[in-house]
Amino acid sequence: MNITKVPFARPSIGKKEINAVKKVLKSGWLTTGKETELFEKEMEVFTSSPFCFAVNSNTSGLFLCLKAMGVNENNRIITSPYTFTATAAVARHLGSEVVFCDVEADSYNISPENIKKILKTEKDIKTIVPVHFGGLPCKMEEIRETASKHGLYTLEDSAHAFPAKTEKGFAGTLGDCGVYSFYTTKTLCTGEGGMILTKDPGLAEKIRILRSNGIDRQVWDRYTNPGSSWFYDVVEPGYKMNLPDILSAIGRVQLKRAFELLDKRKKIAEKYFSAFKDYDFIIPPPGMDFISVRQADSRIENSLHIYPLRLNLGKLKINRDEFANELQNLGIGISVHFIPLFLMTYWKQRYSLKPEDFPNSLDRYLTTISLPIWPDMTKQMVKRVIDAVTITGKKYYKIQG
Ligand SMILES: *Cc1c(COP(=O)(O)O)cnc(C)c1O
Repeated sequence: MNITKVPFARPSIGKKEINAVKKVLKSGWLTTGKETELFEKEMEVFTSSPFCFAVNSNTSGLFLCLKAMGVNENNRIITSPYTFTATAAVARHLGSEVVFCDVEADSYNISPENIKKILKTEKDIKTIVPVHFGGLPCKMEEIRETASKHGLYTLEDSAHAFPAKTEKGFAGTLGDCGVYSFYTTKTLCTGEGGMILTKDPGLAEKIRILRSNGIDRQVWDRYTNPGSSWFYDVVEPGYKMNLPDILSAIGRVQLKRAFELLDKRKKIAEKYFSAFKDYDFIIPPPGMDFISVRQADSRIENSLHIYPLRLNLGKLKINRDEFANELQNLGIGISVHFIPLFLMTYWKQRYSLKPEDFPNSLDRYLTTISLPIWPDMTKQMVKRVIDAVTITGKKYYKIQG
């Protein structure tokens, strides 16, 4: 039988994105310029964040924020092992070390309680880096409270979280800094790219200079030759992490489509949620309240970057890997987010990490499959995913007694 596959992820790129790129290509100015400036301004308005900086990736953005916060070989960061390696690796690039903190018992997000426990014994922490897994905001109020009690910064890895929201504002604006990712599979995509958000003018000033080779044009504009466009000063050895106009042009179109794209993902999530809720071999994902209570009193808006299908393995005769294989054999593109960092050679060896010290992360890893949830999925594709999951679950259901 020749059935077409349902891809795991695909960016939603239309005529508007293509025309925006064409315009930039014809303009003669390809790198960071007017489009990027407008993209940043529009993101500031959208998120009500006073400072936004477009960067060439979320990884670069996290790095610049930690650098600006003074993360270095004399201190450490706390983050979740349930993330992509970049979240932790950027600290190592600054000579800093990483303390991993398990996720909550019932979610995929870092546990505020476990952060508190770590801070009882560990003294040299500089920054807490929560990851809003799949687009569900972490418990930022509690985390911020702990951070301020200990004089620490918070940096939200918001790679999944555009445009997730809480009653306090958009994810990415809830800590000292936040960083979105515009990687191809993410909820706003420019191919590669990212955006730093901060409300701290001091951090903003440092990030602005660090991002562009340590160049400070304003110093020269202030003190000398305000009319000379060729003057600039270098105040430190910075980095080259700017986002070019070609990509910002795509980002500006995608930003305008943010809620259109979110709505489409929401419709898919709703279908999955209601199709699966009556099967006891599936544990409903956290943070999907909007489906049962609808918008009115939903305080949290999940950006729905990932739909985690969590299996109740006690009810099944097969494990996660086998279940995933079955889905793939039925033509469903799937993934697993994440292979926790304590299972990765580098992190495991550097800190002699043991999986049993992260029971919740390990459980999530062993039970979860990411299902396709991209805006342009057809109704038929969504139905095929649902059918594949329910058929597999029924086929391998463990009859009790
Ligand atoms: C995608 C991702 C990153 C890295 O984003 P880039 O833009 O590719 O650098 C970081 N953290 C998490 C949680 C991610 O999913």
